[in-house]
Amino acid sequence: MFSTVLIANRGEIAVRIIRTLRAMGVTSVAVYTESDASALHVRMADHALQIPKYLDMEALVAAARATGAQAVHPGYGFLAENAAFARRCAAEGLVFIGPPAEAIEAMGDKIRAKRTVAAAGVPVVPGGTGADLETWSAFPALIKPSAGGGGKGMVLVRSAAELPDALASARRTAEAAFGDGTLLIERYIENPRHIEIQVLADAHGGTVHLGERECSLQRRHQKIIEEAPSPFVTEAMREGMGAAAVEAARAVGYTGAGTVEFIVDGVSGDYHFMEMNTRLQVEHPVTELVTGLDLVELQVRVAAGEPLPFGQESVRLRGHAVEARVYAEDPARGFLPTGGRVLALREPSTARVDSSLAEGVVVGSDFDPMLSKVVAWGEDRKAALRSLDRALAETCVLGVTTNIPFLRALAAHPDVVAGRLDTGLVERVLPELALSADVPADALAAAALAFHTTPPATDPWEIADGWRIGDPAWTTWRLESRDGVHQVEVRGLPASGAEVRLSDTGAGVRLSDTGAGVRLSDTGAGVRLSDTGAGARLSGTGAEALLPGDGVVAARAVTEGGELAVTLGGRALRFVMVRDGDTLWLGRDGAAWTLTRHRIGDPGDRPGGAGGGDGVVRSPMPGTVLLVKVAPGEQVSEGQPLVVVEAMKMEHTVTAPVQGTVTELPVRAGQPVDMDAVLAVVSSEE
Ligand code: ADP
Ligand code: ADP
Ligand code: MG
Repeated sequence: MFSTVLIANRGEIAVRIIRTLRAMGVTSVAVYTESDASALHVRMADHALQIPKYLDMEALVAAARATGAQAVHPGYGFLAENAAFARRCAAEGLVFIGPPAEAIEAMGDKIRAKRTVAAAGVPVVPGGTGADLETWSAFPALIKPSAGGGGKGMVLVRSAAELPDALASARRTAEAAFGDGTLLIERYIENPRHIEIQVLADAHGGTVHLGERECSLQRRHQKIIEEAPSPFVTEAMREGMGAAAVEAARAVGYTGAGTVEFIVDGVSGDYHFMEMNTRLQVEHPVTELVTGLDLVELQVRVAAGEPLPFGQESVRLRGHAVEARVYAEDPARGFLPTGGRVLALREPSTARVDSSLAEGVVVGSDFDPMLSKVVAWGEDRKAALRSLDRALAETCVLGVTTNIPFLRALAAHPDVVAGRLDTGLVERVLPELALSADVPADALAAAALAFHTTPPATDPWEIADGWRIGDPAWTTWRLESRDGVHQVEVRGLPASGAEVRLSDTGAGVRLSDTGAGVRLSDTGAGVRLSDTGAGARLSGTGAEALLPGDGVVAARAVTEGGELAVTLGGRALRFVMVRDGDTLWLGRDGAAWTLTRHRIGDPGDRPGGAGGGDGVVRSPMPGTVLLVKVAPGEQVSEGQPLVVVEAMKMEHTVTAPVQGTVTELPVRAGQPVDMDAVLAVVSSEE
C-alpha cells in the first residue's frame, strides 16, 4: 500500500478523499491555488502545497516528488479524464489512481466510445457522424460535441429545417469549448431518464457493477439530485444494464471505478449507452450508502495492485439513498452564481455531508459552484426523502447564498415524491417551486428584535427614538434585504417581553414599495405581493402566522451562542445569527437572509454604499468585469447596458435603472468584483 498520496483536486472531493486516506493510515498531500488558501482541504490534509493552477501538471508532479507521494488521486473534473496526465504520472513513476490512459482515451471521445461498446454488444443510441450529420432525418435529434463533457455544447434539433444552423452553431461551440469541432448526432430519446451504472474493475480481470443511480433531476444537463436505486429500474433491468456496463468496461481494458451512463426511455424502459465517465463521479456517495462500500478505498487498493475483495454475487443493495448538491447559486436570480465568506455554518449530523465548507472559507467565482452534497439514507425511498429534507433544513450557511430552499422544494415536488422523473422535469416545474428572495415576516420581526436588543447608550441609531423601560413608544426599524426595504416596529425589551408589528398602519402589514418595481400590499389574510411588471416575482411570506388581530404580536428574543431564539405570538423559532454592525445574517430551515438597517428619514442612504439611492448599480454576482460600455459623465437612458459581468462562463449585462448621467464608474474591464459591489451610479435629472 502507498504511504503517501497526492490529491490533484480541491473542494468537497479533495476533503472526501483525505477522509478515506486518513482511515487507511495513508498520508495525504493537498495542493491549492492562491484563491483557495482558506479552503477546507488545505486545513485537513497532512501536507498542503501551493501551486499556480490545479491543471498545472508540472507543479503537481513536483509537489508529489517534494512530499514523497507514490500515487496521485485526480478526483473528478480538472485532470481526472486527461490521458496525458495519466501518462505523465506513469513516466514519473507515480501511480495514477484511475484507469489506464488508453481507457481514458477510448472513452473520452463519444464517437469512438459508442463504436467500441457497440462492437461489444452494448445497445447505443442510434446516431451518426461525419457525412450522416447533414443528411440526418429522424427528429427530434441531439447534436453533441464528440469531445464534450459537463453537458456543454449540446443542441436539440426539432426538424430538418433547423439542422444546418444547429450544426454550424454546435461546431463553433465545440471548437471553442473543447478545441475540437467533431460532432455526433443522436436520436433524442423521449421521456428520457438518465440512469447510470457504477462499475469497478481490478487489474486481475475482476469487473463488477454496483447497481444504478438515477440522475434524471437535471438543469441544463447538470445533475441536481441523484438517488440509488432508481425507482424505475426492475431487478431484470438492473441485471441487463449491469451486464452491459461490465461489457463496456471490459471492452476498453478498464481498471478502477468508472460510470457507464445510459439514457433510458421512460415509457418502454429501453436503455442505450450514452458515455462512460472514467473517474469517480460526484454522486458516488449514494452507491456507497446502499452498498456499504468505500469507493475511494477500493480505487486506491485497485491502483496499488490488489484484487477486488468481492465478486458480483456478494454485492447487495440495502435501503435507499438520495443526494442533493448544494450550490453557491441564487435560484431567485435565475441561478446566478453567488459567493462570499462563510460566516456561520451548521451541517446536519443525521445525514452524510460531503462538504468543502467551514466557517471562514471564502467562496469565489474561480471554481465550480458546488459547495457540498447532503446524502441521506433510509430503509425505503420515502424514508430517504424525508431524511434528506430534514438534513437540508438543518443545514445553514450564512454569508453565501445557496440553493438549499430550491433543493427542498424540488425534493418535495409531487412528481419527485412519486418517482415520476425525466430529465426535463426540473425545467418544467421551476415555475411551481417558490424561488423568491423575499424575507418572511418572522425573519423580519426576528431581525428587528435582534437589533433592538442593542443597549441604546452604545447605539447612535436608536437615539432619535430613544426607548426607555416602560415607555410605550415604538421604535421603527427600516430593514433592507434583496427584496426591498421593510419597516418593523418594536417596543419594550426583547429579552423580557416586547411587542412587534410589521408596519405603521393598524392593518398589520404594510411593506412599502422600494422603487424597484415591486408593490406589496396587505390583504388582511397575511401578505399578498404582486409584481408590477418590472421583473420581480415574489410569493407569500407566511406572515399570517405572525399577524393576528391588530397585527401587534407579543415577542421575546434572546441571543445565545450564535443563535437567536425568538417567540412570536407564542410561536418559538430559532435562527442561526451573525451580526456585523448594521448587517445581520439570519438562517433557518435551510434558508438564509441578509438584512441591513437604515436610518429613518434617509431613504436613499445605504450603509456602506455609494449613496445616490435608486441610481446605484451593483454586481448581481461575484465575477469579473468583462466590458464597460459607458464613460463617466455620459447620458444614459433607462435600461441601457452599462457593464457586462462574467462568472462561471455566464455573462450578465447590468443596465441603467433610471435615465440620467453616469456620475460614478469605479470599475474597469478585467477587474474582479464581489457580489453587490458598486459598478456605477446613475444620477437622474430632476
Ligand atoms: P458528474 O456530475 O456526473 O460526475 P459531470 O459531467 O457533471 O459528471 O462532471 C463532473 C465534474 O467534472 C463537474 O464538476 C464539472 O465541473 C467537471 N467537468 C466535467 N466535464 C468537464 C469539461 N469538459 N470541462 C470542464 N469541467 C468538466
Ligand atoms: P456529457 O458528456 O456532457 O455529460 P452526455 O452524453 O452524458 O454528455 O449527455 C448529458 C445529458 O444530456 C444526459 O444526462 C441527458 O440528460 C441528456 N441526453 C444525452 N443524450 C441524450 C439523448 N440521446 N436523448 C435524450 N437526452 C439525452
Ligand atoms: Mg454525461
